[in-house]
Amino acid sequence: MICLECKKELGYIDHKNAMDSLGVELCFDHHKRMKALIVKNDTPLEAIQLYYGLKEAGVKAMLEWWDGHKSVDIAISRVKLNIEIDSEYDKLTEEQAINNLEQAMHSFKNGFTTIRIPHILVRYYLNETVKNIIGIMEGLKANIKMI
Ligand SMILES: [Zn+2]
Repeated sequence: MICLECKKELGYIDHKNAMDSLGVELCFDHHKRMKALIVKNDTPLEAIQLYYGLKEAGVKAMLEWWDGHKSVDIAISRVKLNIEIDSEYDKLTEEQAINNLEQAMHSFKNGFTTIRIPHILVRYYLNETVKNIIGIMEGLKANIKMI
């Protein structure tokens, strides 16, 4: 068991605490930092799990990236891809839906593509979700080359 961020060897307690609260293997310091980030940005747990899933697959992403309008859950700047986790997908109101569309519009104007991923996909299909995001990145990369 090692910290996914700094590769430090994890003790039983640190491992258990991080797994219980975030569901990812992190050392005491990185667990503390991640919890501070969640408090500050209201980051969904699944964003953190997906971030580390992508990291394990060799994808460099950023958590809580400020795009000039709002903080994006995960951004992959190399291919201008923003990923938002929909935590309450089943309870989406029309007001949230129009906000989402407006955000997508702003990011398209900046050359960014936004995809919204229901939190249950990260929870139950993390590997498949990561695989699909890598596929989307490849598609975006191909489009960038054509321009
Ligand atoms: Zn660490």
